[in-house]
Amino acid sequence: MSLLPIRVLGDPILRKETVPVREVTPELRQLALDMFETMHAAKGIGLAAPQVGRSERMTVIEIEGHQLVLLNPEVIERAGKVTWEEGCLSIPEVYAKVDRAKTVTVRAMDLDGKEFEVAGDELLAVCLQHEIDHLDGKLFLDRLSLLKRRAAMKTWDEEKDQYPNFIRIVVPGQESGDDPHGDDERI
Ligand SMILES: [Zn+2]
Repeated sequence: MSLLPIRVLGDPILRKETVPVREVTPELRQLALDMFETMHAAKGIGLAAPQVGRSERMTVIEIEGHQLVLLNPEVIERAGKVTWEEGCLSIPEVYAKVDRAKTVTVRAMDLDGKEFEVAGDELLAVCLQHEIDHLDGKLFLDRLSLLKRRAAMKTWDEEKDQYPNFIRIVVPGQESGDDPHGDDERI
């Protein structure tokens, strides 16, 4: 396995629509493993392919030891409303409260090429919606009011110079040691 560099806000790939996966190849399985490893090192709970510079419609999620690989995921049902403090591995140190559906059902394909459905509530629902947004070229910033977005961008302006060429190199064991935010919020 290998750690992948994470693309941060400003890299155009984060704004591109992804391409549906037609076939599960050994290379794609390897990418899933590398994405889990990268996500763990960055202390996150979700990571989408564009965040590591790839265009496949694929995301990985791990919540409370439960791992999910979702290929071509789509939300088929949503209900309720929840407001969650979100961060993003591609916008380090920036957090904001985002309104989302409280529960969602997502249909996707797994690494065996089989279709499955996953229903999520609260954190899992937020994570699924955040990751599927990534696959559509959207970021949580897009869901903020103008005022909140301005505040978030002000924080980012102070952070972004640490990431030349929009690349974040994750060093295992050195991430977010003094970050008051929980791991649950980096998605
Ligand atoms: Zn994200």
